[in-house]
Amino acid sequence: MTTQTQGKAVITGASSGIGFTYADRLAQRGFDLVLVARDQARLDALAADLRAKHSVEVDVVKADLTQPGDLGALEQRLRSDASITLLVNNAGVALNTTLAESDLGEVDRLIQLNIVALTHLASGAAAGFSARGTGAIINIASVVPMIPERFNAVYAASKAYVLSLTQSLAVELSEKGVQVQAVMPGATRTEIWERAGMDINAFPPEMVMDVNEMVDAALSGFDQKELVTIPSLPNAADWQAFTQARLALGPNLSLQHAAQRYKTAGA
Ligand code: NAP
Repeated sequence: MTTQTQGKAVITGASSGIGFTYADRLAQRGFDLVLVARDQARLDALAADLRAKHSVEVDVVKADLTQPGDLGALEQRLRSDASITLLVNNAGVALNTTLAESDLGEVDRLIQLNIVALTHLASGAAAGFSARGTGAIINIASVVPMIPERFNAVYAASKAYVLSLTQSLAVELSEKGVQVQAVMPGATRTEIWERAGMDINAFPPEMVMDVNEMVDAALSGFDQKELVTIPSLPNAADWQAFTQARLALGPNLSLQHAAQRYKTAGA
C-alpha cells in the first residue's frame, strides 16, 4: 500500500544489499526514489518492481561515485533539487588485506567511495536541506570503529570517519531542521563480503544479521530520531555509557601543560 509522497530519497549503492533494501522500505513509506549505482540493469529491474508495487516515481542514475564527474553531478542535484528530502549515503566497499600488502589503487578506490563520495554527497545534502529547513541524511557506517583491531585497517578507518563526520554534522545542522543518523551495522548478509574476498559463512550464524532485519531496525532508529543506531545492540544504555565516558575525557583533552607522567622521561 502506498501512502502520500514524502519527497524524494536518494539512495547510493541501491543495486544490492542494504541500499536495495532501503529502496524497498522507503518506497513502501511513500518516498519517490533516485537509485544510484554502477549496475544499470539491476537498478532498472528494481525500479520497475518498485513502481509496480508502490506507485512511486523512481529515477535510475548510473554512476561510478569514485569518478569526479558522476559524483559532482549527484552532489549538485542534492544541493539544488528541492524535491529531494532524504539522502541514504550507503554505497561502500570493503577490503581484506593488510595495509602493507594492499594494492594502493584499491585502497584509493575505497577511500574515494567510502570517504570522499560520502562527504561530497553529505555536503550537497546538508547545503540543500539547510536552505529548505527540512530533510534527513542517513550515513551507513559500521560497528568496526568499535573493534578496528579485528578488521582491515583502511575499511575500519573509513567507517570511523563516517561516524565522526555524522556526529559533527549533527551539531552543525542542529538548528537547521535537518535530521542526521549514523547506522552501525554488524555483519550483515550481503554481497560486500564476497566482493572483498571474504566468506560471511565463516562467521558463527548468531553473529550475522539478515539484511531485511538490519534495515528495518535502522529505520526504527531513524523514526526514534537516534543519532547513532547499532541494530544489534540489546541495551541502548551501553552506547550512552560509552558516549558519556568519551565526553568525560573532554576537560582534559587540551590543557596548557603536559601530564606529569610525560615530564620524567630523560630526567
Ligand atoms: P553490497 O551488497 O556490496 O552493496 C554495495 C553497493 O555499493 C552496491 O549497490 C554497489 O553497486 C555500490 N557500489 C560499489 N561501488 C560503487 C561505486 N564505485 N559507485 C557507485 N556505487 C558503488 O554491500 P552492502 O553490505 O549492502 O553495503 C552497503 C554499505 O553498508 C557499505 O557502506 C558497507 O560498508 C556498509 N556495511 C555493510 C555491512 C555488512 O556486513 N554487509 C556491515 C556494516 C556496514 P554497483 O556494484 O552496481 O555499483
